Amino acid sequence: NRSLVWFRRDLRVFDNAALHHALKNSRMVFCVFVFDTDILQPLLDAGLKADRRVEFIHASIVELDAELRLLGGNLIVRHASSVADIPALAAELGVDAVYANRDYEPQAVIRDSAVAATLAKNGCALHTYKDHVIFETDEVLSLAAKPFSVFTPYKNSWMKRLAAADGEFFLKPYPISSYASRLALAPTANANAIPSLADLGFEPTNLSELKIPTGISGANQLLDDFMLRIGDYRDTRNFPAVKGPSYLSVHLRFGTISIRTLARNAYQTMRQGVEGGGAAVWLSELVWRDFYFMILHYHPHVAQRAFKQDYDAIQWETGASAEAAFQAWCDGRTGYPLVDAAMLQINQTGYMHNRLRMVVASFLIKDLGIDWRWGEAYFAKHLNDFDLSANNGGWQWAASSGCDAQPYFRIFNPITQSEKFDSEGKFIRRYLPQLGKLSNKAIHAPWLIDTAILQAAGITLGGNYPRPLVQHDVARAQTLARYAVVKKVT
Ligand code: FAD
Repeated sequence: NRSLVWFRRDLRVFDNAALHHALKNSRMVFCVFVFDTDILQPLLDAGLKADRRVEFIHASIVELDAELRLLGGNLIVRHASSVADIPALAAELGVDAVYANRDYEPQAVIRDSAVAATLAKNGCALHTYKDHVIFETDEVLSLAAKPFSVFTPYKNSWMKRLAAADGEFFLKPYPISSYASRLALAPTANANAIPSLADLGFEPTNLSELKIPTGISGANQLLDDFMLRIGDYRDTRNFPAVKGPSYLSVHLRFGTISIRTLARNAYQTMRQGVEGGGAAVWLSELVWRDFYFMILHYHPHVAQRAFKQDYDAIQWETGASAEAAFQAWCDGRTGYPLVDAAMLQINQTGYMHNRLRMVVASFLIKDLGIDWRWGEAYFAKHLNDFDLSANNGGWQWAASSGCDAQPYFRIFNPITQSEKFDSEGKFIRRYLPQLGKLSNKAIHAPWLIDTAILQAAGITLGGNYPRPLVQHDVARAQTLARYAVVKKVT
């Protein structure tokens, strides 16, 4: 029997559930990746020809093909609508089954059921596997067998389940080496050369200039580096100027490393107990990832509306002034240095530090009074690691409308956040060199400084750096009034 492995968000050979099962169950295994026009065409139609994610995927595909070739197979790479193309390819290759790892995003679920239905008409099966998460949506439930909506009990239950199997069962990698000889080279007609970025209609971005390592090797390089400092994670993770986090999110997004590998590394380090508590905190972040996948699955309405439905009654700012304020936020021109530096980070690199994601989200929603969905959409467009569930979870957390979100009356002060988490202004200076000459104390709120000092530092407010768009205290009062509609339900 023959099968086809359809790679999507799992661009690796090592520890890949679908690849493992296909090899185990078949005599001959082909592999395919589709640059899906249903995803890419809308980007091109919107004029978004430079997209770091497309370039990241492209580079990772080249490496995946090379890895498969080392094992005796190769990667068929198509540029088509996968809904039609996967069944067509399956028929051409004469396979009995297509193997893939489950993708939980609503559009992907629709796509996969359409593919399964067409395949079934030709007598071909679509087998899907758990691979993107440690625990699937129905594997961690409350004692009453209900899904959790609060993180801490979910996490406790998650950890308990892992520990009961000593981590071994859920974290162990899927081997392929003993079956790798079943990988087959695609027949010549299907062994298309990998299309170039230009063939796909895209332009190069600054990805290589940013030195964001791509592919399986890039993920391993980042993990090796992070494992040297995982113990410090608890103490360093909140400071954007410090190399605290792992920077692995884009790799988790595209599956160039498995979640099991990451969780296993964290779990084993945690159990050795010799580090500074960082591994346990990092593992907890990986649990948040599973948690938000689960929330999106059970509450798909969150993709459009508030998790807590009463929050849909909030009246956000609208009209030309809201649009201008939103544009200033997007461009990093709010006059609040930490917010602006953070927005320049996402615009220039496609990454934003977690602390800053919380700060800028809070600023947009609770200082500018703008609908969280505007910010969510902006992040979706620009983040290399964009993931519907985590992004939506993060935005609804900041808007207080999410499950287990921060209470609506907790409003980040962008100045104190800056003083606390970038006390020497190192991060701000990196992105806003025009503020470089200000003292560590003054850099967080330039408009509060004496004009003479500003002049001496070469800064003109409203010139080379904007005046603050809003006064935080005033905005805070307006937000409390805006949220009054939901007071009864929190
Ligand atoms: P690390 O600190 O090294 O964390 C390791 C991994 O844990 C991350 O790669 C990620 O997979 C997971 N993780 C960490 N924090 C969270 C979290 N709060 N929720 C879910 N998973 C988490 N993360 C995304 O992967 N995609 C997004 O689109 C996304 N949008 C966000 C939007 C907002 C408003 C906020 C507040 C957070 C968002 N996050 C998102 C979560 C978090 O900011 C990023 O995962 C993290 O900054 C990625 O950097 P890292 O890999 O260096 O993180």
